This record gives sequence, structure tokens and C-alpha cells, in this order.
Amino acid sequence: MDTRYSTSFIYFLVCFTVVVFADKNNDDSCTPTNCKLPDCRCPGHNIPGGYKPEEIPQMVLITFDDAVNWENWGYYSRLFPPDGSRKNPNGCPIGMTLFVSHNYTDYCMIKKLHSRGMEIADHSISHRMPQKWWAEISEQELRDEILKQKTNLADLADVPIADIKGWRSPFLQPTGDTMFSILYNNNFTYDATMTYPYPRNVYSPVMWPFTLDYSYTLLCNIKPCPKNAYPGFWILPVVILMDYREEQMCAYVDYCANAPRNKQESFDMLWKNFLRNYRTNRAPLYINLHSRWLNTDYNIDAMDDFIQRLLSMEDVYITTVSKAINWMKNPKTLSEIKNFDPWKCNFKPNQEDDAFCSFTYKPRITARPTSTIPPENDVHEKQETTNHGKHDHRPWFLKNSASMFKPVVTSIVFVIYVFKMLA
Ligand SMILES: [Zn+2]
Repeated sequence: MDTRYSTSFIYFLVCFTVVVFADKNNDDSCTPTNCKLPDCRCPGHNIPGGYKPEEIPQMVLITFDDAVNWENWGYYSRLFPPDGSRKNPNGCPIGMTLFVSHNYTDYCMIKKLHSRGMEIADHSISHRMPQKWWAEISEQELRDEILKQKTNLADLADVPIADIKGWRSPFLQPTGDTMFSILYNNNFTYDATMTYPYPRNVYSPVMWPFTLDYSYTLLCNIKPCPKNAYPGFWILPVVILMDYREEQMCAYVDYCANAPRNKQESFDMLWKNFLRNYRTNRAPLYINLHSRWLNTDYNIDAMDDFIQRLLSMEDVYITTVSKAINWMKNPKTLSEIKNFDPWKCNFKPNQEDDAFCSFTYKPRITARPTSTIPPENDVHEKQETTNHGKHDHRPWFLKNSASMFKPVVTSIVFVIYVFKMLA
């Protein structure tokens, strides 16, 4: 080959390689062309299926974190009645998602809630403090926290392992690729840990759930975020809420610095956040909270009113995270939704639903210093101590004599000793 032609050929080859490499780089970012439903969805505000907001259901995803026991059982039964009488417009009972940690959880209650159609998800074994521990946790420790709790939910509450699809890290603290690779390789469908800022204002659209098919390029609110891609794995974004005064932002309803002071303010907070989604792009409304918010009477009354108000709307569905993802994979209009199979009723209250459900399972408390007990679990620790304190297993002659026992024994030993000396 002529030198002139061979130089041109090499030049062409280099240019071609650069172009291909550049295109490859472009392929690494998520676009509507290279990422399509049902298995891939780019982060964004556009409505799946290209529908108009008024054509689709407004989904409301209420999620509670931490242990389930007598501290919150009454609240959950009031908001989501055991008879399934609160129904979505398709005639099926409303649902919520519970991210359950192990310590202090009564698995009998989990079994009942699951049979009523609530989604049960994983929230660790120990839920230990501090938050930083979860950022720096070793792969083996995190694997144990995630997978052992998944096993607990399946073995102790009879939740089918395939139904445990979601994970939320304690304190919304991600552990980068360590966490995502464990979830991805162990058949989880979604993570609900990653926090995202409040949209610019009340008129700005809200982020929809998305998949991690392409490397993570979004703002990393709490580090470390993942860097790698996890095709088909979903992120349920924890979009920050606005308080009732529209001044401060909060990841959880119960974390707002401007705490509501009465029922109207509590209701206003829930309602204003709802309207933002409902009047813009109808992304699911993410209501994340801990049951302790409901310890205040006007808060649970407001939440009750909020749910009842939503039930009166023909285009609103109070549902679970997994059902929201099912809809996203196969978006349906309001007119089609009543025949949408994944949203068909799965309410099967078990026979002994009204039976007394106590601490049938004694939680294995993870050995750790008292100072590491998370604040939200303090109350359960006190309650457990009180309950067990009622059962005094000492012999009858020692009961009610703890304070006197030592001095009396010491005196007897002393008298015997004196007698022996005198003998
Ligand atoms: Zn928690």
C-alpha cells in the first residue's frame, strides 16, 4: 500500500475510534432512546407512557419505618382497618409499606399486616447508631443486616421471600456500591434510601421512581452514593417534604422543624404536599414517617382525615411501593386501571385476625452498649423492661426483699462466726 494511503487509513481509523468511543460515552448516560419501560426508566419528571396528568391515577405511598409492636399496632389498625373497609376506586383495600427492623418487632403483627395487603420491606436487624456506622459498615456486616432481616421476615412472619422486595437503610444513610451490589445480587427490586431535594417550588413537578441502568449522575445528597449501574433495579426517591408553613424541609413527616401545633396544621402539611404532586405531574406522593408522629392525638386525627379525604377522590390510590413500580412498568390510564391485574385485591385476613397478638416472639436484642440504642427504640426498650419486670422469677422468700436480703445474710454469717469463735 502506498504510504500516503496507509497514513490516510491510519488517520481514518483513529478518527473512527474516537467517534465510536465518544458515542460509547454518550451511551453511558440515560436517555429515552436507550432506556425504555418496562425495565428501564431514566430519572426525571415526565409521566410514564406519555400521558397527561389528568389521565393517570395519583398514587399516594405511605411508608412507616422501624419496629412493629403494641406501640403502633392501634394506629395502623385505625388508618388501615382490619376489615378492609377503606377502599381505593378499584374496590380494593388501601395499602401502605412498612420498612421493618428486627429489634422489638412482633412478627405475629407483621404476619397479620401482610395478610391485609400491606407491603413488608427490610430495614435491618440492629438499626444501630450512629448514622455514620452505616456509611462505613463492612460488606459482611451490611450483608448480615440486610439478609438476616429478610430471613426473619420470611421465617418468623411467613411473608413469602419473593414478596420482600424493598430495602431502606437506617437513618436514610446509603453505603454506596456496597449496599447496591448486595441488594442487586439478592433479588431485591428497589431501594428507598436516597434523598432528593424539594422541587424548586409548589408548582415544580416531582421526581418519579427510576432505575439504575446507567451510572449514577444525580446529586448525592447523603454520601456515599452508588457509582456503578444496576440494570432494572429501582430507586424509590425520598423526595423531601415541605412543612405546613412552607418554610423548612424534612425527609420524614415527623422530622419537620416547624412541627404542627394542632390538627389543622398537621392536615395542611399533608394536604399541601399532596396538592403539589396532584397539580403538577402526578408523581407518587411519598409520605415517609415514623409511628411516633401519631402519638400526638391531633396528628393521628389529621392523618385519618387526610386518608378519608383522599378516599373521596376517584383518581387517587393509596397503595404500596411495589404496586407503584408495577404501574410504572406498565402504565395504565384511569379508565384502564380497574382491570389492571397487579392492582387486583390481595386482602386475605387470616382466621385469628382478632386474636391477641402479643410479644409471641422475644426479639433477640443485638448486644451493644445502651448508648447506641436509636432514639425511636428507647420507648420500646422501656416498655419491654416494664413488661418483663411484672414477672418476678425469684423464689417466694426472696420476693420484695431485694433491699433487705444482703444485710440479713451478712448478719446471719456474722452471728455464726461469733458463735464459732466463742465455742
Ligand atoms: Zn429507621
